Amino acid sequence: MDADVDDGVLPLTANTGLAPFAIEKVGVVGAGQMGNGIAHVCALAGLPVVLLDARAEALPAAKATMARNMDRQVARELISEAERDAALARVLTSTDYASFENCDMVIEAATEKEAVKLAIYRTLTPHLKPSCMLASNTSSISITRLGASTDRPEKFIGMHFMNPVPVMKLVEIIRGIATDEATFQATQALAAKLSKTTSVSEDFPAFIVNRILVPMINEAVYALYEGVGSVAAIDTAMKLGANHPMGPLELADFIGLDTCLSIMQVLYEGLSDSKYRPCPLLVKYVEAGWLGRKTRRGFYDYTQTPPRPTR
Ligand code: NAD
Repeated sequence: MDADVDDGVLPLTANTGLAPFAIEKVGVVGAGQMGNGIAHVCALAGLPVVLLDARAEALPAAKATMARNMDRQVARELISEAERDAALARVLTSTDYASFENCDMVIEAATEKEAVKLAIYRTLTPHLKPSCMLASNTSSISITRLGASTDRPEKFIGMHFMNPVPVMKLVEIIRGIATDEATFQATQALAAKLSKTTSVSEDFPAFIVNRILVPMINEAVYALYEGVGSVAAIDTAMKLGANHPMGPLELADFIGLDTCLSIMQVLYEGLSDSKYRPCPLLVKYVEAGWLGRKTRRGFYDYTQTPPRPTR
């Protein structure tokens, strides 16, 4: 187990002196890129997982992605074939919320729309045992507000994984105003079991990583919009000048320009500060449906090999 901690992390037994409530079975709602990654790391850590999606066809696709990603880990000798097979066998897929009845923690990783998440909690919570905790992987929505909509705000918490989940080491943990200490400790212990390092963020718009990262991306789009540099010049400058592994525009395409825009809107509205105004060029790309890698066009054209800068 990775025992890395950073300054924002409390020891697992802080305040209580008691071992945290052990999470033995996990549910995941949403089998998209994040949900399938979360199921992947939970299953590899030995936890039985129930993975649910509203779209039945998303489930075999998620299982196939998980198998492919684990094959890569086998090829790199990070896990054995036996560990891969055992992990895949621990993931049960379902479209029925009743499958969550024995879970100790359900992590919601559905589409980043508040109305979608609230509707999921309404359907989900009647199927949960009273002790079951509920986490959201939201990138930006208020944990306090999401938790308040449920029957268990004290057991509700933000568990913000990074993309791609099996590779990225960080999980941000966000307590809502009502989240109790036992839930916080159990969530920290779960993250440690998944070999993740945690960083604790207060419940403010976009938390820590996206509060800093996405305005930087937005500024890179402004630099492009104002003609300070071309796509290639901006990305090369930040890769070689700031030692970033990816340029900001390349990273924006990877995250999804729609996601970047919606995080800027949450920051702009949530903090009422004009410094967070989304760049008009970012808005225009999203309006055009040029969302980055997922639509094969964003700041780069992914139909070309290697991808060609579009400006
Ligand atoms: P995605 O579009 O890949 O997956 C979302 C999944 O939710 C889809 O499979 C969809 O069918 C499912 N879904 C939608 N409505 C549902 C419902 N009512 N019931 C059950 N399932 C439903 O999105 P994603 O990138 O995996 O993002 C999921 C969450 O993770 C969002 O809250 C997002 O902000 C957050 N997040 C995303 C990233 C990222 O880089 N993509 C990083 C960190 C956190």
